[in-house]
Amino acid sequence: MTETLVRYEDPSPGVARIVLALADKFNAINPKMIFAVNEAFDRALADDTVKVIILAADGKHFSAGHDISETIDEYQADMQERSPRVSGWSGFLEPGTHGWYASEKEGYLESARRWRNLSKPTICAVQGKCIAGALIFAWVCDIIIASADAQFSDPVMTFGMPSVEWLGHPWELGARKAKEFLFTADSWSAQEAHRLGMVNHVVEREELSDFALAMAQKIATKPAFALKLAKEAVNKTLDIQGQMNAIDQAFSLHQLGHSQNFRLFGWGMDPTNVPSLAKVPDQDKS
Ligand code: ZN
Repeated sequence: MTETLVRYEDPSPGVARIVLALADKFNAINPKMIFAVNEAFDRALADDTVKVIILAADGKHFSAGHDISETIDEYQADMQERSPRVSGWSGFLEPGTHGWYASEKEGYLESARRWRNLSKPTICAVQGKCIAGALIFAWVCDIIIASADAQFSDPVMTFGMPSVEWLGHPWELGARKAKEFLFTADSWSAQEAHRLGMVNHVVEREELSDFALAMAQKIATKPAFALKLAKEAVNKTLDIQGQMNAIDQAFSLHQLGHSQNFRLFGWGMDPTNVPSLAKVPDQDKS
């Protein structure tokens, strides 16, 4: 039986809601979930009756981030199966850096870029923990609503990596706070994220879903074409400031981080502080 990773809902006319549905696994993100989210966004995009898309999650926590318990073999096999149809990238089963790069490029960069540029407004509703790869899901949405118990962190410095693959941090937090966030690997509250401008509104946990839906309903009353133009205008402003080029550049540095860890530890991350990361699949011993 296929596990339900993502639920697609139509809570109100003009509004689609995409829900991460792996609460018992803290909504950890594996390739199947990424492609399920991608398909759900595509479905909402193709439906002319949908004007606004909410991304939400079941359970206590929004998401624990990328599921690094899955072996790179499983991971790349999933990517190999699905990615060429989406991005044209292949080579996921190649050993060493080739397969790793191909997987991450589609899984964390190109998919995120597509979602960020979807021609309909998106709202992310975040509760509980939102860790590392989960930040990408939130950041590529146009508006972020957080519950008061939300906590944001990118702790990959602990694993010998500079940041998660999509370097939204300086844009979301400002350069100095982004450095502190990355260097310390600390978890920051919804209130702090709101103060820094990363989060639009902080609401009580029990109000999160209704608040996000009410905002979606309000937006859905506006003309669809003007909404698309407004979104594109703001995104283009960020593009002209260099956001996309900077994120692409940071992605390359992220890959350099993985390569350094491969050279030192035989695995893409440094297991010194997290011994459970010390796994060396055969195909990555190149
Ligand atoms: Zn990576």
